[in-house]
Formats: sequence, C-alpha cells, structure tokens
Amino acid sequence: MTSFDSAYTDILHRARDAAKRAGSVVRVLAVSKTKPPEAIRSLAELGQRAFGENYVQEAIVKQRELTDLSLEWHLIGPLQSNKCRDVAQHFDWLQSLDRAKLIPLLDRAREGKPPLEVLIQVNIDDETSKSGCVPADLPALADTVAEASNLRLRGLMAIPEPTPDRDRRRTAFARMRVLFEALTKGHSEVDTLSMGMSEDFELAIAEGATLVRIGTALFGARA
Ligand SMILES: *Cc1c(COP(=O)(O)O)cnc(C)c1O
Repeated sequence: MTSFDSAYTDILHRARDAAKRAGSVVRVLAVSKTKPPEAIRSLAELGQRAFGENYVQEAIVKQRELTDLSLEWHLIGPLQSNKCRDVAQHFDWLQSLDRAKLIPLLDRAREGKPPLEVLIQVNIDDETSKSGCVPADLPALADTVAEASNLRLRGLMAIPEPTPDRDRRRTAFARMRVLFEALTKGHSEVDTLSMGMSEDFELAIAEGATLVRIGTALFGARA
C-alpha cells in the first residue's frame, strides 16, 4: 500500500461517515497545488477524478502531462481578469468567481465548449481577505451568472477565516448554508456547497457541505 492509498481511503471514509450522519452525499476535491503531476496521477489511479488548483499557469503545465487521464479540473484560487480566457479554456469548474466584471469575459471565452460550472465565492467572515463577494451582492451576481449561456451556476464556495475556534468556524459554515438554501430556491441547477478543508471538513459536512476541498490530508504538507 502506498502512503497515498491509506490517506485517500481514510479521507473518503471520514467524508462518507460525516455525510451519512448529515443525511447527505459529499464529493471530495483533491487540492493538488504545488504538487507534481506524478502525485496527481497516483491519486487518479486510486479513482480520484476531481482536482483543485490555485494558480492557472501551474495547472496548465501539469494538465499537459496528464492528458491521457480524464480528470475534472477546478480553479479554487483568486481569478484575475487577464486569466479568464485560460480558465475558460482549461478548467471544468471555477469555484472563485466573485465579481460581475469577469462574467462576460468568461462567457465569451467559453463559447463552443460545454458550460463552465461556476461557484460564487462568498467572503463569509474573513475581513482580512479580499477574495469573495459580500453576501449582499450574491443575488445579483447569481442572476448574472445564470443568464450567461456558456456558464452554469452550480452553487457557492467559502474559505472561512482560519481560526482554532471551532464554534466560529461552525457559525461561518452555518451562515453559508443559509445563503446556499436561499440560492437554491431561485436557481434549480444549484446543487453544490463547497466548504471545508483538511482541518475542518467533517464540521463543514455537518453544516451542509456537498464538496470538500482536501490538500494536506491527502498529499502531505506543502513546501
Ligand atoms: C489550499 C486550499 C485548500 C486545501 O487546504 P488543506 O488545508 O491543505 O486541505 C482548500 N481550498 C482552497 C481554496 C485552498 O486554497
């Protein structure tokens, strides 16, 4: 058994148990930023299909070495307008959309391909972070994504402020769930709430996450 093998099995079991307790189903996104293509390949051989990357250029370089695999690529890092074209061409999911200005750029660059699956990133409690829209801007942003013909609105993503205070994290996750449930009412295609990382994914699942983003617990610490 490789080290990946036991880490992967452990994470899948823990995620599935947490989902069972919550009465839900959850998917695991393997966050492979800074990790080499061989590490991605090893995990893919165990059955993992969805991989998350933070940096567009780094992801494209790795993707070139993995074209023989049928993987699903998610951008989870901040997006600049000059990268919209590359994201629309090279990714299946964008989890970090946070402003309206990017929507027409992405929409145009995605022409002729299957719709780009989009999550809107919400800044739920981290005043020090500039990423994510404020909750008040969410309804208008969601409507604009839903109207773009080459984008498909699938839900929300959040990175709560890193804090050892579990009650605080839980509160942030619970607030995301409220926003998510409100969003599903007006948008029938919305089915994905992306929250929870290596340290807190079980807590996130208990509060309604349907997609957890796991890096360190799968691949080991990043340099
Ligand atoms: C790096 C990263 C993760 C994974 O974090 P781990 O603590 O290593 O599991 C998840 N989501 C985002 C947005 C990240 O940047």
